[in-house]
Amino acid sequence: MARVEEYLAQQITSRGDAQALSDSVGTSWTFNELGKASDAIAEALKAAGVKPNDRVLMLSENCGAAVATVFGTWKAGAVIIPVNARQSEGEVKRILDHATPAAILMTTGASPDAVKHAERMGASEITGAFGSLHLATPTASNPDADLSDVAVLLYTTGTTGDPKGVMLTHENVRFGGMTSANLRCMAPGDVVYGVLPLTHVFGLCSVLTASCYIGAEVRLEARFSAEKLYKALTSGVNFLSAVPQMHALLMQYTKEQGLTKLNSKTLRYVSSGAAPLDPTWKRKAEEFYGVAIQNGYGMTETAAGTSATSNPIGSPDISVGPPLPGIEVKIDETVEGGGVGAGEVMTRGPQIMKGYYKNPTETAKAVDADGWLRTGDLGKLDENGFLHILGRSKELIIHGGFNVYPPEVEAAINDHPQVIQSAVIGRSKDGDEEVLAFVQIAEGDSLDPEDLRAFVRERLTGYKRPKHIIIGTALPAAPTGKILKHKLLETFKDQMA
Ligand code: ATP
Ligand code: MG
Repeated sequence: MARVEEYLAQQITSRGDAQALSDSVGTSWTFNELGKASDAIAEALKAAGVKPNDRVLMLSENCGAAVATVFGTWKAGAVIIPVNARQSEGEVKRILDHATPAAILMTTGASPDAVKHAERMGASEITGAFGSLHLATPTASNPDADLSDVAVLLYTTGTTGDPKGVMLTHENVRFGGMTSANLRCMAPGDVVYGVLPLTHVFGLCSVLTASCYIGAEVRLEARFSAEKLYKALTSGVNFLSAVPQMHALLMQYTKEQGLTKLNSKTLRYVSSGAAPLDPTWKRKAEEFYGVAIQNGYGMTETAAGTSATSNPIGSPDISVGPPLPGIEVKIDETVEGGGVGAGEVMTRGPQIMKGYYKNPTETAKAVDADGWLRTGDLGKLDENGFLHILGRSKELIIHGGFNVYPPEVEAAINDHPQVIQSAVIGRSKDGDEEVLAFVQIAEGDSLDPEDLRAFVRERLTGYKRPKHIIIGTALPAAPTGKILKHKLLETFKDQMA
């Protein structure tokens, strides 16, 4: 069985002295140096009693030591569980109890939150070619033979409920990385901006594995800020992969700074994924970047990309494009919210997960005997074979007997010049569901919900218009920047009628 760390070995053989990565705490490594750093981690893990098919949990924010931890864990024959250090103690405990890792490595050199976890766990510092990390050994070695082909246990974002532990095999991750690199026509020596957390599938497969497969350099950023992104874009970055919220926040920053055009000679490819790409953001951001934004659709269960666009700049297409090579997509029209041409998106191919860890019931519900994965998303295929995502089936709002797809309502709201981003959900009321909109505006700005209501009235038919509009300056978000819709009601409970 081919393993992901072979991608690194290939780079060391062919281009060992080429730059592999740099980070925001001063690490700068060639592929040879990354090889040595990950060897040192593999040795440290073995010394701590980690055996092949054990689990190793990494609490990290993006940095060189995190990349070395991922490859070092694979070299030790173990399964990596990347968890964002910004997750709370309770969220981390839930994963620890579920995955029972033999070791925890914390990127304390690049993350104040990792330091807090390390102190709480009484972890000890280890140093070596990887720099400095903290190590704790919560459970005795307990190898799981069922994990022998598994590279990573990746917990989903938790947008719709509790995160699920997705088992991605070495083949899944290799395929995801290779497909992403080929789709973007990446070349050895290209520079990729690495702000998407390595703890999420988009960062782990589409950024890190893709770069290592092709031999591109990753400029790792521990935490997103629009200002840092702007600086990176003006200093030689060729590839930007981001969640749509990052494009929206960058546009807000450039507006405040009076910057209208990037004028970069190096930027070649910008992608958006992991959440719906709003048409307004797409238009504004393309004008600024001077490069088309490609919309990629994928999920943790599919090791990142399932489909993506390849559009010229300014294209009005907001589909998620055709399925990527080797991947099939079909629509199940029989589900609730489906109909002629529309229904639940199903996908099949070498990227589909092995299953949910320790949850055969949910695995059987998600993947059928022929290998088709139920994505939980509603969509349709157009005459060109392009996939359009209408929204998640769990988030479909049925109001007065009509289907309301939140992304369509969000797009109408986001079109308002003062709105940075928004999130629409349904709430049960008297046997029906009412539409609620949560709207983010800039700090210090003010917007009358009635003005926004009038603005939306011109863009949406009656049953799609929000019954309540709640305005704030921040929406609850995951470490990637994705909005956590199930936390909206709780977050804004004081403002709710
Ligand atoms: P959970 O499964 O825990 O509720 P999640 O589904 O948000 O969380 P991820 O695997 O991070 O966890 O996200 C995958 C989902 O993100 C997809 O199922 C889809 O709903 C959404 N998504 C991803 N890319 C796009 C896109 N380009 N356009 C619209 N939606 C997208
Ligand atoms: Mg999901």
